[in-house]
Amino acid sequence: MPQPDPRGLLALAYEQARRGLAEGGVPIGAALVDADGAVLGAGCNGNVQHGDFLLHAETVAIGDAGALSDYAGTTLVTTMTPCWYCSGLVRFLGIGAVVVGDSESWSDEALDWLESAGVATTRLHDRACVDIFADWLATNPDVWSTLPSSAGGRKDGPG
Ligand SMILES: [Zn+2]
Repeated sequence: MPQPDPRGLLALAYEQARRGLAEGGVPIGAALVDADGAVLGAGCNGNVQHGDFLLHAETVAIGDAGALSDYAGTTLVTTMTPCWYCSGLVRFLGIGAVVVGDSESWSDEALDWLESAGVATTRLHDRACVDIFADWLATNPDVWSTLPSSAGGRKDGPG
């Protein structure tokens, strides 16, 4: 079965990241799509807006889809490489594929772990996904410092 165009899927996640930014939140977006690329759920990081550090874009998008009977044919697309928390949920549900915009800025060891477990992973090395978060972080380091993040942390600096 042909897979949906990864770039087209990433546009869905990026749109969510932009929405999060407009809401004053952390600009990370995600969507869960079916085998045809139809959106099952979408969402953005809600740490700031909802004061809940567990609201990652991926978990929000997966939750937005509601409970499914089978996740094997679904793809999770996210603007930033998934953390261990979100990657654990991918394994827990048996999501079949993950598409990532920015796997450069942060440790992608959890993505490697998904790949080794048989999850189809696609790294798009998308500049816009890198920039939207980097630009936000540059002006909101105090906000980010209050949020737990993956132990691997940033590739280009201290975690
Ligand atoms: Zn996460």
